[in-house]
Amino acid sequence: MPSSNLTALCLRRRETGERDLVVTFLTREQGKLALHARGVRQASARNAAVCQPFALAVIQAATRGDQRGMSTLAQAQIEETFPGLREDAERAAWAAFAVELTDLALPDGEPQPEVFDLLRATLAGMDTAADGAAPACSFALRLLAILGWEPVLDACAACGGALGESEACFDPAAGGLVHAAEADRRLAVPVTPAVVKALRRLLAPEAYGLDPAALTMSAELEAGVRAAVLAHVRCHLDAAPKSLAVLDQLRRRPA
Ligand SMILES: [Zn+2]
Repeated sequence: MPSSNLTALCLRRRETGERDLVVTFLTREQGKLALHARGVRQASARNAAVCQPFALAVIQAATRGDQRGMSTLAQAQIEETFPGLREDAERAAWAAFAVELTDLALPDGEPQPEVFDLLRATLAGMDTAADGAAPACSFALRLLAILGWEPVLDACAACGGALGESEACFDPAAGGLVHAAEADRRLAVPVTPAVVKALRRLLAPEAYGLDPAALTMSAELEAGVRAAVLAHVRCHLDAAPKSLAVLDQLRRRPA
């Protein structure tokens, strides 16, 4: 018996057998779900588009399962492929970062509709964004906030005092921004006032009436924001995402 309809985003895929894939989807209804997709590596396969990275689809899983107990992808209807994410290598790398974080952060089979909606909106925004960095960093901050790690950005997370013009660090172990003198130097990264301002906007864009997909950052600002976001990710997800290595390779290549 196939399952009821699931709204799904493709997070990850790996090859199995000669023509098949194991595809990890984030479904709105059932959380993260790995499915055996039969025959989808054939050019003519009906469900191939659904198994492309970032694809949004309505799927059904066959609950009978294969020999290893994994359910199979039965019916699937593609809703959106987000072609803009594949046209530009930098945008693709930032989109892959958002998807990788989601995969790292969520356990299998636990519905997180708020995360699903945020990832879907982020990919849709990035599809036509000039720059992937702001929407991706905003996604990372909001994903971790939904999971219980909202950073303190309006005062010192260590002593509670005002930050004012004093030198500050982003210290994920302390819970957010701290006075530089109170930072744990192993995890904390120094932040400029411009980075502090950007982090506040990216964490709560709606409070500022901003769409993260419409924001662009200078190279210097992006590097500062990225360092703080990655420190936050490493501290709470205990993992270093690999997707941004692609971005660094692209930028080292002469134009
Ligand atoms: Zn302090």
